[in-house]
Amino acid sequence: MSGLRGRLKRLERDTEKTVIECPTCGEEFVTHGDVAAEFIRHEWVRESGGETYRETPEDVLRLFDHKHAPGAFVEKSSGLPFLSREVSGINLGGSFVGMEDPGE
Ligand SMILES: [Zn+2]
Repeated sequence: MSGLRGRLKRLERDTEKTVIECPTCGEEFVTHGDVAAEFIRHEWVRESGGETYRETPEDVLRLFDHKHAPGAFVEKSSGLPFLSREVSGINLGGSFVGMEDPGE
């Protein structure tokens, strides 16, 4: 029954709450589910022309609405960037475009 166990585990993870903090101003964002993956997908769609905007969760859209670069946000409990491999489990293979502050 390893398949079922995997699914239950996944379900658990999907509804997990993650608190993300802006390192610049300290504002906190409560997100649910796989926020790093949603963030990356949203950013990717935007970069590639944005024609297939799917329903990005409200949680994630709020990160983009913030006045500071969302790619630099950290996961509050660990203090690590939420896009880092340690937090997201996703290996972005080097620098990610969204992680650089536009420096406005
Ligand atoms: Zn901020």
